[in-house]
Amino acid sequence: MKILKFGGTSVGSVESIKAVLGIVKKSYEAGEQPLVVLSAMSGVTNLLTKMAEDASQGKPFQDDLKDLEEKHFDVVKKLIAVKFQNPVLTRLKLLMNELEDLLQGVASLKELSNQSKDLIISYGERCSNYLVAKIMEQEIPVSEYINASYYVKTDSNFGNAHLNEPLTTQLIQALAQTHAGKLLFVTGFIGSNEEGRMTTLGRGGSDYTAAIFGSVLNASAIEIWTDVNGMLTADPRIVKKAFSLPVLSYTEAMELSYFGAKVIYPPTMVPAFMKKIPIVIRNTFEPELAGTTIQFETEKSAYPIKGISSISDVSVLNLTGSGMVGKSGFSGRLFTLLAREQINVILITQSSSEHSITFAVNPNDAQKAKLLIQNEFELELLANKLSMPVIEDNLSILAIVGEHMKRTPGMSGKLFHALGRNGINVRAIAQGSSEFNISVIINKEDLSKALNAVHDAFFAELKKTLYVFNVGTGNIGSTLFNQLHKQHDFLLEQNDVEIKVVGIANSRRMYFNTEGIDLANWKETVEQHGEVADLGSFIATMQAMNLPNCVFIDNTASKLPSTYYESIFKSNISIVTCNKIANSGDYAQYKMLHETARKHGVDFFYETNVGAGLPIVRVLKDLMMSGDRLLRIEAILSGTISYIFNNFKGDASFYDVVKKAQELGYTEPDPRDDLGGIDFMRKMLILARDAGYPIEADEVALGNILPENCLKATSVDEFYAELLKSEDYFNALKTDAAQQGKVIRYIGTLEDGKVSISLQMVDEQHPFYALSGSDNIISFTTERYKERPLVVKGPGAGAEVTAGGVFADLVNVGA
Ligand code: ADP
Ligand code: ASP
Ligand code: MG
Repeated sequence: MKILKFGGTSVGSVESIKAVLGIVKKSYEAGEQPLVVLSAMSGVTNLLTKMAEDASQGKPFQDDLKDLEEKHFDVVKKLIAVKFQNPVLTRLKLLMNELEDLLQGVASLKELSNQSKDLIISYGERCSNYLVAKIMEQEIPVSEYINASYYVKTDSNFGNAHLNEPLTTQLIQALAQTHAGKLLFVTGFIGSNEEGRMTTLGRGGSDYTAAIFGSVLNASAIEIWTDVNGMLTADPRIVKKAFSLPVLSYTEAMELSYFGAKVIYPPTMVPAFMKKIPIVIRNTFEPELAGTTIQFETEKSAYPIKGISSISDVSVLNLTGSGMVGKSGFSGRLFTLLAREQINVILITQSSSEHSITFAVNPNDAQKAKLLIQNEFELELLANKLSMPVIEDNLSILAIVGEHMKRTPGMSGKLFHALGRNGINVRAIAQGSSEFNISVIINKEDLSKALNAVHDAFFAELKKTLYVFNVGTGNIGSTLFNQLHKQHDFLLEQNDVEIKVVGIANSRRMYFNTEGIDLANWKETVEQHGEVADLGSFIATMQAMNLPNCVFIDNTASKLPSTYYESIFKSNISIVTCNKIANSGDYAQYKMLHETARKHGVDFFYETNVGAGLPIVRVLKDLMMSGDRLLRIEAILSGTISYIFNNFKGDASFYDVVKKAQELGYTEPDPRDDLGGIDFMRKMLILARDAGYPIEADEVALGNILPENCLKATSVDEFYAELLKSEDYFNALKTDAAQQGKVIRYIGTLEDGKVSISLQMVDEQHPFYALSGSDNIISFTTERYKERPLVVKGPGAGAEVTAGGVFADLVNVGA
């Protein structure tokens, strides 16, 4: 025989009940001799609890009662043939009347005991099972409703009763005998004490009922049918990437469910484990899927852990004091006290000096625990051997679970790295001695971020999601969006990276969407649905969203975003930027930003600050990091100036070449901004700093390209006029070079910590001789690359390559 247990979500509506009937019928017809255990219809237990509480506070409950009745009647009307409806409706009506009387009683007494509450909520399971049994009876006449409270015997711990196993075993065995051949629909969740008073087995307890029946009747399997595809690697409501686990051991399932995986009630594992009966968690709405099998042996999976679970709301009590040092009886006394008073201690950690004990409880129990401790340890408190217990609220527990963790080193390192990198503060840690689980206590507001970050870290073969906030939608920003849009599927398939742009701002508008903005029409979305832009509030919103693996992209040319970089790093958000301002300002600022990023474990990538998409910054860092020693850098890092000197040959006049460069869009509006070498200087400055030299802009020896008169001109037009007048000057340079068989190049050099940029003439031997177009070139002479320097060459400007560089930085974040 087999136990088929269906949860509230599986009997929540007419449609879902149809699905349940289909599954039961199939099993029955296949000769599996199913015994069905049902929960209350979804939401009903909560509703009954609310009604009981309302009644006890003198609040009306009649409307809710009406809704409850309707919910059940509706199913009768839709799933039972008209001629059979009456007796069923009558019986349900009777149950509703009883319930009303009870609630009325609670209302008159203005008192609600746990005992009355259990009786009231038992109506949920009693109605649903009766109802579904009656529906099934139409097709399978041997269907019969069973009120399990007559068979499941418990103690009198109302609300969370403990099983009287011997008695229950006897009664269920007897039931099986008298009802052989029947198709039973058994109420989950409810039982009764010795006096026959209704008890419940704890919220979610229908699973446990299923295991109790399965164990007594030696079922071949206990199937828990619910609304997800088995036990998943994490709570799917929080971690969208959670996936179903094919196999788990009882211990693993127990740990995951104990730490919050609601899909199965933890005590369920015990009876099944004792008899080695597999528990199979399956999806009522996708019955063709295999779901999760919980069995005796664990199976090694491709991942070091099985899953991550969490309890979203716990309170923590801290006890400190010298009175605990070396007193072996102290924690014994403490936890015996709490156990006696039915306070469930979820997690305990004790510092090695024994100066403090921290334990987590349900928030509803915290105050009570504190008072109990104050009473029990009154003397110690008076003698100052113990400080007053302190309660901390709004905390959550996150636990990673897996039997194979034990034999895999580095698990806690990985966990703490993922948390630390995302700025999640760990308040306390506990590792079960079994090493099946490591649990951490964190702030409640960080839970969702933590779960997702830890999930990404442990299931790394899975896709990683980067959440991107981008400011600046000019040439580079919009090109980047195009590239991201085009590459989305490729990245996901080939690199398992998903990039979601969740915030976009330009100088006019800003727009957010945590699901990711559709990059096919970001422009319209931002224009039409965005709010008025404000950089400060854009950044504040980004910080408040508290997303894992978060990246801020500065695609602007303005100074303002850089004033926020420090605060962004402090929120554990990485920065990718093509904006040079932050890195080329004061050295102190450069240093502070780099240190802040490092301290917070986030990335600061700016490959496009030098040579657009060419790998220059990265190459330099790799050389330094791998222990090579930099001797010299020589570089041409201005695409504009490259273009100008590459074309200033033969008959060409300098004036014409500059004009042409401007027409082609290669120059700044005032070409002197390029020809003055300032931009080039900034790039050299960044390289020098990355190479470890604390250098300031005014220490760079910047040689002039332009004669005095051109520099002094007060407008662009005047500048061109002066340029025309200086034709002789430039021609002399050109002829001079040509006569020597050389070409003119504007070259930056870093050597011995000194940076200079100057016009030079180089001959054919020089690697920069053959540079063409607007290319950039850089040569690194190092201890390793001494004879033949390492040269990087290619297009050093343009929206496509620059956006490509930003893209590459982005993909490398967190790698
Ligand atoms: P039922 O009504 O069938 O008893 P529950 O609501 O008690 O269903 O449990 C199923 C729910 O548990 C799922 O809908 C899912 O949202 C939640 N859940 C939380 N953690 C997990 C997990 N690790 N795996 C699967 N489901 C989980
Ligand atoms: N109906 C009960 C509850 O909601 C029992 C269960 O669903 O397992 O807790
Ligand atoms: Mg449940």
